[in-house]
Amino acid sequence: MDEIEYKLYIDDVIRRVETARLKVSEHHIVKIVAVSKYSTCSDIEKLYTIGQRAFGENKVQDLKAKAKELEELPIEWHFIGNLQKNKINNLLDINPSLFQALDSLELAQELQKKLLAKNMTLDCLLHVNAAKEESKHGVMPEDAVKIYTQIIDEYPNIQLRGVMSIGAHSDDKEVVRKSFETTHEIYKQLPNASICSMGMSGDFELAIECGSNMVRLGSIMFNK
Ligand SMILES: *Cc1c(COP(=O)(O)O)cnc(C)c1O
Repeated sequence: MDEIEYKLYIDDVIRRVETARLKVSEHHIVKIVAVSKYSTCSDIEKLYTIGQRAFGENKVQDLKAKAKELEELPIEWHFIGNLQKNKINNLLDINPSLFQALDSLELAQELQKKLLAKNMTLDCLLHVNAAKEESKHGVMPEDAVKIYTQIIDEYPNIQLRGVMSIGAHSDDKEVVRKSFETTHEIYKQLPNASICSMGMSGDFELAIECGSNMVRLGSIMFNK
């Protein structure tokens, strides 16, 4: 695809997001985070050139390498992957716009310590395992509100902005819908939350219909 073809292709993806969000409400704004984990810096630059600003990575070392190589561009970096405790300082050195996958009180406690030591704050989302899948990270849906408020109360350098969830791994659309509804129900109960991050390339329209206001699109944005 040359640049013009790629722009038309992305326009089409954006049109699909637009159509889905307008079904919810004219006032329902959805942000696209382009997940670049399978893509190169040159792919990111191509997408940046046609207007995309928020990008997400799921490995600290990849985020670090790409953020460094592209440091001239005012990219908004999101970290969307599982964070190991021994990688916290590496992540904080990059100072991402949003850490989307805070998934336990234990991690929150470690993160708070490191943030305090660096005199920093970090915007985060609580990762909810809405479909209770063993293979996935995240807090159980029934514990989410309690853990969220506990983090607010106990870890002041963590600035919680809302929740992130991955749709149920199922071919049954109703099962996927249920997982998004579960996450959105939690989101509505949270104090001062403004981000409900759910929806990927295969299910973003359904996620938006269920109230998502941030979609994390990988393969579809990079046409892979
Ligand atoms: C890879 C990934 C995505 C994007 O997946 P696609 O199906 O390629 O859109 C979104 N969220 C998370 C947490 C991911 O790891």
